[in-house]
Amino acid sequence: MSFNLEEYLPYGRWRRGQRNLAKEVFRTVVNGELLLAEYPTGAGKTIASIIGVLKAIRELGGGYKVFYLAKTKNQALQPFKELKKLRNKGIDVNFIFFRNKKDMCGFKHKMSYDEFIYTCNIYRKEGLCSFYKKTLKEDSEYFKALLDTAEDPMHFISLTRENGLCPYEVARALAGDAEFIIGAYQYIFNHEIRDVFLGSLNLDLNDIVLIIDEAHNLPDILSDMYSYSINEITIRAAKKEVRKYGGWRESLDFLTKLLSLIQGFKVQTKRLGWIEVNPSLLLSIAPETEVLNETLLNILRQKGFETPSKSYFYRIHKFILKLKAYNLGYTLVIRSREDILTLDLICFDVSREVSRIFNNVHSAVLMSGTLQPREYISSILGINPHKIREFRIPRIFPVENWLVYVATDVTSKYSERGDYMYRKIAEYINVIDRGVGEKCVRLVVFPSYDLMKAIMPYIESREMIIEREDTSISEVIRKIRDMDRPLILSVAGGKLMEGIEIRHGRKSLIRVVVVAGLPFPEPSIYSSKLIDVLAARLKSKDKAWQFVFVVPAVIRVRQSAGRAVRSDRDRVVVFVLDKRMLNEKVRKYLSLEFSNPRIVNGIQNLEREFAFINEFLSHN
Ligand code: SF4
Repeated sequence: MSFNLEEYLPYGRWRRGQRNLAKEVFRTVVNGELLLAEYPTGAGKTIASIIGVLKAIRELGGGYKVFYLAKTKNQALQPFKELKKLRNKGIDVNFIFFRNKKDMCGFKHKMSYDEFIYTCNIYRKEGLCSFYKKTLKEDSEYFKALLDTAEDPMHFISLTRENGLCPYEVARALAGDAEFIIGAYQYIFNHEIRDVFLGSLNLDLNDIVLIIDEAHNLPDILSDMYSYSINEITIRAAKKEVRKYGGWRESLDFLTKLLSLIQGFKVQTKRLGWIEVNPSLLLSIAPETEVLNETLLNILRQKGFETPSKSYFYRIHKFILKLKAYNLGYTLVIRSREDILTLDLICFDVSREVSRIFNNVHSAVLMSGTLQPREYISSILGINPHKIREFRIPRIFPVENWLVYVATDVTSKYSERGDYMYRKIAEYINVIDRGVGEKCVRLVVFPSYDLMKAIMPYIESREMIIEREDTSISEVIRKIRDMDRPLILSVAGGKLMEGIEIRHGRKSLIRVVVVAGLPFPEPSIYSSKLIDVLAARLKSKDKAWQFVFVVPAVIRVRQSAGRAVRSDRDRVVVFVLDKRMLNEKVRKYLSLEFSNPRIVNGIQNLEREFAFINEFLSHN
């Protein structure tokens, strides 16, 4: 087998480790294995993986389709650009881009994703979608010309819309010839979407090579994808809807019974927070699926597709269908959230949903700048460990560019939280903000929104940018431009931490990262159920606990600090304000840059360090 990968490289040279990554990807795909690839964000793993896979599927003689799965629109941009570069270099590679169908649709509406899919099907079948009708009349040469003109994925979507076409259907028409399909996770991990999508392309799982970007997020994303909730407000609104649109009597009676059933648990949930219930309790009062289907169809037909409103009954319909397919790995709970009763169907063991996928695709590459250990991934996702290879280069920049401090007199541990601790953590943040002389971005990462809200009143900076649930990355970048010493308050695992790149050219503008408490996931029914499953699988309760709490916390710390190092000229000072950072069970999962931290056990102790810190940063 040939290792001449250079013929595909659209750049002048490889970056450190990049060629080895491409080679490892190539071997993995040729052997039909699964690769865990840890390689720094921004160092070029997208093109390395594409080259390795492309070379391998050509070596194997074709017939394979590569699904490059990305979580967000931004993450889908990179493979699109790299594949375009390959084409510009004269390499004949076909690719196409999909977002979720709702985002691609020609209409603007506010429906939930599932409701939209349902409605789109009706509109196509009944000939009510003008975009769809026009798309059927055009040919693939015209579609290819549109794709060639598009500069990026969003441009492709707007071009097709402007031409009166359905962007999704255009992409689907091009997917047959494409070697690479860039898409959202749902195209493979949502069973209904996958079956329809692969069926339309005449593909089986073993025809597929998966590349999954930012794969450290996969367990959480999959659990969210498979879990589903409704609350008493949804049930009441659905009742109104059924009445208004003249739905079936049986559906109306069911909603009344459902409401009184969950309200019967009000006192218990208020006292305990949540209560686990047997699904048969709900299913015993639910009508036949045909009745639910007819009611929903009736509502959607009458509401009309172009009305920007959503159906509440749709959510109930979906919840009950999910419950009817209830499986091991799920639990049903009633919770009280801000005095509203919620019914949550929680998927705590995603391996039951996805192990079949990983064990049946031809090959898969799971990539991230901070990837969990092999045993973690194989046990959580249910992957055969013998099929797994590993390639890990966690950093390509010198470890000397990191200066790490751990404060040992503070913690975000639940039992030690309170006003005294919040003030103390805030005092550290204030001292760091004042003590660092550099005009640069200071990034503070809290374990949760609640903790951020508790500590924020004591923070003194006048140039604060606070992450809220609706904060956009572009808004943050705009604000930073007008500030000298912006202090960004963000949340681990939040939107800013996953997506933000604050750079000037290749150089990061973040020089200081403060981890304001170790971001352990909050204890919940999900974590306690998952610990039980993993304890049985790993034959160790302690290891299961570490996998559920410690590993995610360490990944978040590494992600937070990694935001500041995007080139070999970047230097960063990381302050971890939590004594638990020194715990052996935490340290064993940390990477080299955290292995020798400087310890401070009080504010005065830290203040004495600033001459050293500022000298360190002056070499930037
Ligand atoms: S077929 Fe029509 S409704 Fe469906 S996604 Fe396309 S434009 Fe939207």
